Amino acid sequence: GLKCGIVGLPNVGKSTLFSALTNIQNVAANYEFATIDPNIGIVDVPDERLQILAEIVNPQRIVPTTVDFVDIAGLVKGASKGEGRGNGFLTNIREVDATIHVVRCFDDPNVVRSIGAVNPVSDKEVIEMELQLKDLDSVEKKIAKVERAAKSGDTKMKEELNILLEYKNALNQGKNARSVNVSDEEKKAVADLFLLTMKPMLYVANVDEKYLHEDNHHVKALREAVAGENAEVLRICAALEAQIAEITDKEEKQMFLEEYGLKEAGLNQLIRSAYALLNLITYFTAGVTEVRAWTIKKGWKAPQAAGVIHSDFERGFIKAEVIKLPDYIKYKTESACREAGRLAIEGKEYVVQDGDIMHFRFNV
Ligand code: GDP
Repeated sequence: GLKCGIVGLPNVGKSTLFSALTNIQNVAANYEFATIDPNIGIVDVPDERLQILAEIVNPQRIVPTTVDFVDIAGLVKGASKGEGRGNGFLTNIREVDATIHVVRCFDDPNVVRSIGAVNPVSDKEVIEMELQLKDLDSVEKKIAKVERAAKSGDTKMKEELNILLEYKNALNQGKNARSVNVSDEEKKAVADLFLLTMKPMLYVANVDEKYLHEDNHHVKALREAVAGENAEVLRICAALEAQIAEITDKEEKQMFLEEYGLKEAGLNQLIRSAYALLNLITYFTAGVTEVRAWTIKKGWKAPQAAGVIHSDFERGFIKAEVIKLPDYIKYKTESACREAGRLAIEGKEYVVQDGDIMHFRFNV
């Protein structure tokens, strides 16, 4: 599945958040937590639409989609130069598709901070700098290789070199690779480097429970600092989320949430934000045996989307029957939707929309 890496300085609440994520008792769905690797948690994506559909269809099973969260430890000041556990964090972070940066926005004298008073903006910069230094390393290594070919007159290599230099320049100025303004075609020059600061990022401002509903000065400062990045900042109390995650009883959970004035667990929002950060959308299939959510990338056409279910579906794709959720809610069955003229027949060029209820027709 698609992976989100959780990064941040020590003692900001990463482990607390990670264990909350991997402890969630998703009451409605057939929740499974696969312990293949202690650093990876496979988490159901909470989706109200799936529950609504299931209530109508009443299937034998309900299958949500998932996102993988990876706990990336060992990122400290100087990590890129071998401090702490050194480059250990790299192996994990290279393979993630997006990063969640946990930033400490709570004051608690009992929780040790090695680098002075709580300062989310400086924490963010420390982590970012380590990632940028690693990226700079990668870019410079490639420049050294490409330079020779470029000097011998290879025009394609010259172009590539120019793009690489642009990245080098930006990283040297403390900018992230993702902020470099080049075309998708030009981005190919660095695609093989899997740059860390190229991955989309979202910030989790870890606050005390008394600041659940308003930004404290730390969160305000963080928001200002990331204003130019077009990145989301989620205010969450990791410690509270860990407690919420442990409650298995649905009503008890609801009461607990209400006590804190929450509509739902902050983790639900985080999981959905991570999903959006990965540029993912969901379509559904609805049958008596199974009502299921499927993950695709935004912009995928019907055959490719069908291929997520089975490669035969893509290869033998004939057409897709599409129902929108409000129609399904209104007419209750596929055939009733068809009779009401609310079932669309779509071909190979149809771009699947978030929330579509799909039924694929294919040749075997
Ligand atoms: P990590 O090193 O980033 O993984 O941090 P941990 O998750 O181990 O948290 C470090 C310490 O901060 C632990 O003692 C946590 O109980 C505490 N902590 C985590 N989140 C919060 C929070 O929201 N408020 C307070 N006061 N303490 C927290």
